[in-house]
Amino acid sequence: MTGLSDSFQRPINYLRVSVTDRCNLRCIYCMPRQGIALSPRSEILSYEEIQTVARAAATLGINKLRLTGGEPLVRAELPRLVHMLSQMEGIDDLSLTTNGVLLKRYSAPLKQAGLKRVNVSLDTLKRERFKQITGRDKLSHVLAGIEAAHKAGLEPVKINMVVMRGINDDEVLDFARLSKDEGWNVRFIELMPFGQAASLQFVPVAEIEQIILSLGPLEPCSFSPGNGPAKYFRFSQASGTIGFISPLSEHFCFNCNRLRLTADGRLRPCLLSDEEVDLRQPLRQEASPEEVSQLIRQAVAAKPERHHLAEGVLPKERTMCHMGG
Ligand code: SAM
Ligand code: SF4
Repeated sequence: MTGLSDSFQRPINYLRVSVTDRCNLRCIYCMPRQGIALSPRSEILSYEEIQTVARAAATLGINKLRLTGGEPLVRAELPRLVHMLSQMEGIDDLSLTTNGVLLKRYSAPLKQAGLKRVNVSLDTLKRERFKQITGRDKLSHVLAGIEAAHKAGLEPVKINMVVMRGINDDEVLDFARLSKDEGWNVRFIELMPFGQAASLQFVPVAEIEQIILSLGPLEPCSFSPGNGPAKYFRFSQASGTIGFISPLSEHFCFNCNRLRLTADGRLRPCLLSDEEVDLRQPLRQEASPEEVSQLIRQAVAAKPERHHLAEGVLPKERTMCHMGG
């Protein structure tokens, strides 16, 4: 293993793989209610193609993989892909980001296939509001999914809440309390106001933290399986944690360690820039492992120093459900 780093000396060791652009929810900040123009299935990478990319990435020094989407659990036989990736030399951490709707059914098979842990996106604990935010009446499915993930040992289960002003910001305290009462690991995420989310308002994490402090002091803690961009805290005696992720008010680009692979086979050096490196065509023209590695290196070299979302520079070509968040 040689270790990858970009032009700004940031070590790159994390690949987020979007396995589908399809989804069973329609979150207001991500997908239009009528859905998006889906890529034809022939353009979506096969599991074998994803494995080829992951293997080349692992040889270069990527040791963390996350499966995302769209909704990864709507793709048929996801445990088969998990099995293929979990066997791979060099991969220490294999995780999944899901909306949780199908997690009850899949937690045990995913664990058995070698998945380590899950992040579940959940923005409200109220049934009616869940319907408004996601377009579907599935809150009870998600809660059952979270329980099943714990039972299966997909730990730590992290709950990601995107906080939107006037929509769910009145539930910040309810989610924070769950870190005390139920041992949940809750992460509060600033909405990135582009695409579907352009007309919604984000809430800065400093403001979210102030709201939470009304429940008592927070102690910094080092909980960070996955070593992501969140800053973690806990209430004294609480078994769960509180995390804050601030892509907007305090961007963490200086620490960025990731690349993204879109469902249709493009490597994306930065979530918030439209630059991409195509892998699908080379893969289908039987590129050698060395050629695939070279394209990965090219994507790493193209990583910009930082995003410019706050200055209004937005990705135009893709929605979040193409890129996997
Ligand atoms: N369907 C899965 C899910 O919802 O967890 C995985 C894909 S989703 C695109 C990944 C993450 O991106 C979710 O946690 C979602 O809340 C987040 N997300 C989507 N659009 C966002 C936006 N505009 N700002 C911040 N987070 C966003
Ligand atoms: Fe689907 Fe996830 Fe986007 Fe919601 S955030 S619409 S669950 S892809």
